[in-house]
Amino acid sequence: MIQSLAPSDRLFILTGAGVSAESGLPTFRGSNGIWRGQSAQSIATPEAFRADPEMVWQFYSERRKRHATVAANPAHFALAELERQLGERFFLCTQNVDSLHEQAGSQRIVHMHGRLMQTRCSRQGCRSKPFEDDRFYMKRAEIPTCPQCGALLRPHVCWFGEVPYSMDRIFEQLRICTVLLTVGTSGVVEPAASFVRMAHLNRARAIYVGPEEPANLAFFDEVVLGKAGEVLPNLVKELTRQGV
Ligand code: NAD
Repeated sequence: MIQSLAPSDRLFILTGAGVSAESGLPTFRGSNGIWRGQSAQSIATPEAFRADPEMVWQFYSERRKRHATVAANPAHFALAELERQLGERFFLCTQNVDSLHEQAGSQRIVHMHGRLMQTRCSRQGCRSKPFEDDRFYMKRAEIPTCPQCGALLRPHVCWFGEVPYSMDRIFEQLRICTVLLTVGTSGVVEPAASFVRMAHLNRARAIYVGPEEPANLAFFDEVVLGKAGEVLPNLVKELTRQGV
């Protein structure tokens, strides 16, 4: 049985693609990580967008279409319930670009890799802001341009080789958390893979949930093997059984 939370505990949650797998969104590393014969990793880059913006927008437009057909699963709802109980002692950092945590009711959340359903200017340094966008761009001529600088617009997602978002806030929360709960992430994508090491240095208790052991297993104190949607509802009950 997992030790329950104390009233002084502050929880940092890190989620990865695995938390949305049971909703029907494939993980990158699963067998579905190939799109039209290319790995998702080779499409999700600034170089790919410069070389072929149409192809990159087709990839993300297909993901937007798919996103419209899926729904939050019991793992997302369990984490939203935990937030309702813990209030400002709860912080959720997701590597996912989907909006399923929000759909389940999460509010104290940052998307370190951006959001599929937002679009922004592709020119570095342009001051225009990302905006909500559920449209699909399948042809080069359909891709909109920035009203401020005229550059092509791109999905507001962090590509390989780019710096993730909200890192100051994330590092501050890692510094003050006493419990780190990581769900459904392979432990190989940096910098998220190192969060458990940082929390460990600050003596936080680290718990991992997922069907297989992550690559950074050595830094976790407890591992609960299983699917997030099956494990988390009970785990949340165990963590909060003595009141929070
Ligand atoms: P990953 O694809 O490297 O690893 C997925 C992890 O999820 C694996 O460790 C696997 O064991 C685990 N998993 C599979 N099914 C699970 C389940 N039912 N419950 C719990 N865990 C399960 O994903 P990553 O480590 O998150 O890194 C890949 C990058 O691609 C990240 O930025 C990720 O968020 C992004 N991505 C996002 C989405 C999304 O937004 N839904 C989908 C694919 C990839």
